Amino acid sequence: MARREFTKTTKREALKRSGGLCEAVGEWYGLQGGQRCNAPLSYGVEFDHIDLDANSKDNSLENCAAVCIDCHRVKTFGHDIPVAAKTRRQQDKARGIKKRKSSLSHPYLKKKLSGEVVDLRTGEVVSR
Ligand SMILES: [Zn+2]
Repeated sequence: MARREFTKTTKREALKRSGGLCEAVGEWYGLQGGQRCNAPLSYGVEFDHIDLDANSKDNSLENCAAVCIDCHRVKTFGHDIPVAAKTRRQQDKARGIKKRKSSLSHPYLKKKLSGEVVDLRTGEVVSR
């Protein structure tokens, strides 16, 4: 697999444009839509292709984002949905929102991998 690379000039220009702050924006990086990371890039910088089209050969400055290591890792190895869910959980935690206890908190109810909920006292499937 050929790796798409930005030229040194493009990277330098992107870094200059960033003002030394992470340019990652939005959910692909585990952020809220439209929110910019703005983490200092002094701990390390990665250059990321904004356009996610795998066929794109766009190595222009417009398609280059200077992002922090964390954001790059999230986008490279993560998936937008679990990341967004994690962000929501962290925000909920910060706001003091606790997960409402479901019937699954009863010790005698067990959810199987198949999605069925089994009553351990009777062995009956109570919901699916
Ligand atoms: Zn970042």
